Amino acid sequence: MDKQIAFIIAVVITLAVFGWTMKRIISFFRITKPFPVKDFGKRFNLMMKVAIGQSKIFRFPFTGILHALVFWGFCVILIGSIEMIIDGLTGADRVLSFLGVFYDFIIASGDIFAFVVAIAILFFMARRLFVNVKRFTGAEMKHKSHLDANIALTLIFLLMISLLGMNIWYFILHPDSREGYYPVSMFIVRNMISAHPMDPVAAHTMHEVYWWSHILLVFIFANVLPYSKHFHVFMSVPNVFLSRMEPLGYLPNMPEITKEVKLMMNPDTAFAPAPEGEQPVRRFGVLDVEDITWKNYLDSLACTECGRCTSVCPANLTGKQLSPRKIMMDVRARMKEKGPGIVHKGKDFSDNKSLIRNHITEEELWACTTCNACAQECPININHPGLIVDMRRYLVMEESKGPGGLNAVFSNIENNGAPWQFSPQDRMLWAEGLEAPLMAEKMAKGEKAEYLFWVGSAGAFDDRYKKVTREFVKILNYLKADYAVLGTEETDSGDVARRAGNEMLFQMQALMNIEIMNSYKVKKIVTCCPHDYNTLRNEYPDFGGHYEVIHHTQYLQKLIREGKIRMEGGPFENKKITFHDPCYLGRANGEYLAPREVLDAIPATRVEMKRNKSFALCCGAGGGQMFKEAEKGNKEVFIERIEDVLETGADIVCTACPFCMVMMTDGIKYKNREEEVKNYDLAELVSITLGL
Ligand code: SF4
Ligand code: SF4
Repeated sequence: MDKQIAFIIAVVITLAVFGWTMKRIISFFRITKPFPVKDFGKRFNLMMKVAIGQSKIFRFPFTGILHALVFWGFCVILIGSIEMIIDGLTGADRVLSFLGVFYDFIIASGDIFAFVVAIAILFFMARRLFVNVKRFTGAEMKHKSHLDANIALTLIFLLMISLLGMNIWYFILHPDSREGYYPVSMFIVRNMISAHPMDPVAAHTMHEVYWWSHILLVFIFANVLPYSKHFHVFMSVPNVFLSRMEPLGYLPNMPEITKEVKLMMNPDTAFAPAPEGEQPVRRFGVLDVEDITWKNYLDSLACTECGRCTSVCPANLTGKQLSPRKIMMDVRARMKEKGPGIVHKGKDFSDNKSLIRNHITEEELWACTTCNACAQECPININHPGLIVDMRRYLVMEESKGPGGLNAVFSNIENNGAPWQFSPQDRMLWAEGLEAPLMAEKMAKGEKAEYLFWVGSAGAFDDRYKKVTREFVKILNYLKADYAVLGTEETDSGDVARRAGNEMLFQMQALMNIEIMNSYKVKKIVTCCPHDYNTLRNEYPDFGGHYEVIHHTQYLQKLIREGKIRMEGGPFENKKITFHDPCYLGRANGEYLAPREVLDAIPATRVEMKRNKSFALCCGAGGGQMFKEAEKGNKEVFIERIEDVLETGADIVCTACPFCMVMMTDGIKYKNREEEVKNYDLAELVSITLGL
């Protein structure tokens, strides 16, 4: 009875402290913005795969397996802890033992996992203390972060040792017990503990000591976790369940901007008064923690500070200030700093600080290439680029602040419908001397094209990429494809504007393009630009543009599979070709196979870079970087990437994106390797091999 009373007191204290902590955290959630959650079935599958199955952790197999064992061990041991709590509250002993064989299985698994987890934790501690793991370092990793990690690892180790001790003494006390099965503890007792019979009172006392140590450690652990990075033990599963379901390349819409843009585009409504009761928009984008969604805050709480995101970030790898892990840590720290003030004094509370500037610098935000390597790598599906773009949205739309190069791009898109200073009337100059049917002409003849070939601004205006556009059109004509282009009716897709934070401009472009495409009843689109492919495919549907969009690599793959393109001989037969995955085709949309299948159909030898497919390094041009000076660092991203190319010994680096092409060409020039290494788009390789 005394034990029961003591236990109930311990439970009440634990729940009171835990409840107080949770109340505080939940009050912070209340000051954030909504984040829509649907598709529960799909979410469940994702949770089973990523959180329970630990699929992303296995991307780095050795530490992955150890981490997965710790996670699975925790899940199994949790069942034992629940039983201990029921036992403690009711005064029963082994209350779940009625489950029979299943009980034996759970207890045996717990016993084995306690041992395995203890070993894994020793490995993790040794690695932290004696090995210089780069991803555990960084400006944001202060002494407190390391101390926090070491305390949590020590607690987990003690939890496992106390569990094993409890099992060992239980087995000594009840050697013939049929309640539970303890393979590791039994082995230890039989082989390492004296064969002399134990004094039962002493054995009982030892069992009680370990029993209490274990359960009190569980209670302490539960209350320490919310204040440590190991809060992810609780938060990672729900965080994965609630993660974004869209392709990584998708950026969420801002309906408040759509409304403004539609008003601007319709002169009749531009000056109409706002409907009664409608609240004015407080702020566009994210300046501070009251502007983030509850999911952004959940992400920050769930972040394990593992640094996998930062270790693959091209900006960070090349010495720039940006670290995606820091972004998450800053959100958490800022909420801790400002959250209580907002909770008590309301949303207008100000401490004259903000998330941007006092925690995250503008330089960090403008260093991002939106390559999504961080989001791809994060084991708990945190999406950093979305939040980074939200902060850019604030800077651009509220403060008109953006790097000079981008401001010029914005005004060019606004005035010329392209990021460069070209006349919109010159949009078809790329096609001089080529047959490229226009949608308008087809319509005038009462015809419809199966495909719209979306040329894109780079395809129409960039001198090097105009050649790619021409080669692709030659292939279309050779295949007698049923296609047409918009010509001067096409305008910039708005991809760069959106990723650079100018949502207003993006939406204007999107609405204009959708209006024209819908007027031609466009159903299928093929494009050579992965950025436009991503935007048209994933983002235009939010504005009423629903099309089947494919990238030219997918189009070529389809034709090769159908046997309509067959390539024999050609000038690349003795050449080694490596493929650079464009971020917006690969990570953003999961297409790695199509370009490789097309390359394999060309008589040549394909070689892979060490960082390929979902591990591929960005070329450094995405997210508006193409049009601005790189932020301060120790290297340009394209140089880092071209070194991957050169390491393969390839004669040709094959690209499938206009921006990647610029970057790879610059990289080859920078390394003075123009004689030995050439850069071609996949369409060019096909067209040249076909002799077109
Ligand atoms: S999107 Fe790419 S550049 Fe931006 S933070 Fe993530 S990894 Fe770094
Ligand atoms: S954001 Fe994800 S990958 Fe980055 S440190 Fe946090 S948990 Fe690790």
